[in-house]
Amino acid sequence: MRFAGIEAGGTTFVVAIAEDTPDNIVSRFEVATNPTNPEITLAAVENFLDKETFDALGIASFGPVDLNPDSDMFGFITTTPKLGWASTSLFKRFEARYGVPTEMDTDVNGAAYSEVHTGTSGLRSCAYITVGTGIGAGVQTERGTIRNGLHPEAGHIQTRPHPADIESGFMGDCPYHPGQCCIEGMTKAAAIASRAGVHPADLKDLPDTHPVWDIAAYYLAQLTASLTLTTAVERVVLGGGVMNRACMYPKVRDHVKAIINGYVRYPALDDLDTFVAPSEFGSQAGIVGACALAAKAIQQS
Ligand code: ZN
Repeated sequence: MRFAGIEAGGTTFVVAIAEDTPDNIVSRFEVATNPTNPEITLAAVENFLDKETFDALGIASFGPVDLNPDSDMFGFITTTPKLGWASTSLFKRFEARYGVPTEMDTDVNGAAYSEVHTGTSGLRSCAYITVGTGIGAGVQTERGTIRNGLHPEAGHIQTRPHPADIESGFMGDCPYHPGQCCIEGMTKAAAIASRAGVHPADLKDLPDTHPVWDIAAYYLAQLTASLTLTTAVERVVLGGGVMNRACMYPKVRDHVKAIINGYVRYPALDDLDTFVAPSEFGSQAGIVGACALAAKAIQQS
């Protein structure tokens, strides 16, 4: 069995073929997401896939996307600040071209799905948070992926500002939530870089001891705790470029412990080192998620 996956990211599209299991990637291709002309990016994706054979296709996309099966716009990217990508059809285009069972979800829902259904975690539920150019969260429960008329957009939950941000007056730069301190506006790579006074591309050069990392962890812990308290998942996996910095995990755990403050009796929370963790698929989490959606498409067909 060969699974094709498309991880449609705001910066990069990753396309891969996995054999037998979604985490066994045997072929992979990347193309930069053209900021204004989707046709250039999608044609490159098709050029790769046209030369491959596969039994199913999974699309894990940046959002917001329309995932309402009753909608004429099902599988379209809807409103996005990325010029040119609004109202771009992904699902129908690829399903029609390749004629194989196809499944589409948000990138983070795909990743949450694969944390439960691929690999060796043994989990029955999981939340997946990505922290990079934006913040997104997906949730896989014992009864399926959380997806209703809308998919979760937990990256835009309002937060309690960090004392350092109150002092400096930094309220985030989300264009939709000015002054609301939404998680994404406060914690995306550009927000962290802005506090540190560096370009986002230079964040990697900041030392672990720089105070911006603890401030970012403070907000990510609020999102982690909120998802835990609302969905009662067994694990919260954090991924994305910012989480390549290993010191972020203990910082997030410390803040989660302080926020929950012993309130719930939940065995999963007893071991925070396991509860707040990186993906077992490492930097491949997103594309494995897309390939896992292909496996899901076959199950459903
Ligand atoms: Zn926002």
